[in-house]
Amino acid sequence: MRKRHWKDRKNRKCPDCRRVIYYTRKDSFDRAVGNNSVCKSCAQTDRKVTMETIEKMKQPKTVEHKRKISYSVQKWWDGKREIDWQRLDPNN
Ligand SMILES: [Zn+2]
Repeated sequence: MRKRHWKDRKNRKCPDCRRVIYYTRKDSFDRAVGNNSVCKSCAQTDRKVTMETIEKMKQPKTVEHKRKISYSVQKWWDGKREIDWQRLDPNN
């Protein structure tokens, strides 16, 4: 026999996709409200986005590192060029 007492079942809308989430336990419902947590599918999307963000955050670091190397090489060349310019400058 299945009783359907509404007060035993709580529901709230997902703050992300507005889908209704049902809670069978009051404490989990209260926690979800307190955390303003999203539904399962949104939580998964969130994690995926976070992972992508982490990957994106990783990449610029590598690019930055490469840029730093090329910058130091560029600096070295600039210094060399400066010396050449000074040598070529008749007023010097
Ligand atoms: Zn959702």
